[in-house]
Amino acid sequence: MSKLIAIDGPAGVGKSSVGKALAKKFEINFFSTGEMYRCLAWKVLEQGIDPQDEKAVLEIAQKVKWTYQAQDNVLKVYIDGICPLDKIHNEEVGRAASKVSAIPAARILIMDEQKKLAHLGNIVLEGRDIGTQIAPFSKVKIYLTASAKARADRRVKQLKEAGQNPVYEEILASIISRDERDSNRKIAPLKPAEDALIIDTSDLTLEEVINKVLEVATKNVW
Ligand code: C5P
Repeated sequence: MSKLIAIDGPAGVGKSSVGKALAKKFEINFFSTGEMYRCLAWKVLEQGIDPQDEKAVLEIAQKVKWTYQAQDNVLKVYIDGICPLDKIHNEEVGRAASKVSAIPAARILIMDEQKKLAHLGNIVLEGRDIGTQIAPFSKVKIYLTASAKARADRRVKQLKEAGQNPVYEEILASIISRDERDSNRKIAPLKPAEDALIIDTSDLTLEEVINKVLEVATKNVW
């Protein structure tokens, strides 16, 4: 039986860590749908285009070619043959990704790509609209949430561990503004599917969250 897990939630809530652990456990691939918006945003910024210039962003979105490669239970995305993972996980590209993802015509093109992955199955899809738009047929839908403060604390810790010197107030402000844009856009806003299991991770360890999801997935579905 093909396995499909949908994980949604706001930025910095631990979706990737949970998703990767689940993919390993079920021997399927993890895919971060946000990386596609980040790749597109990166390309847009590289070309000196304003990520809110709808026409120019759409032109790029129409031209790019998406390919994928699996490695260690993670499906990596390539934009025009390049996998720019080391260049897309920063605040600047994150902000731009949030802007390009709110441009309806560009978003539809990326969503269509993601729907193909959902239909192929055997995948953990992580994003903002997986349970509601990309894979509403998934039997396991998880919506992770946590207070903006808890998420900012975690992000600051991560950045410090990576040798950076983050300013807490800036990180918190960025999380709040990204939440607001993602939740209020017209197309595919961030929200839990009606039948999603909502887990507040503010006071849970990663292991506790993973165990909760595993319990639901194995008991109810596989
Ligand atoms: O998850 P990540 O932070 O990498 O996503 C970057 C941005 O891409 C998000 O802030 C959001 O605006 C957008 N996104 C989206 N729908 C998804 C995944 C990400 O709109 N399914």
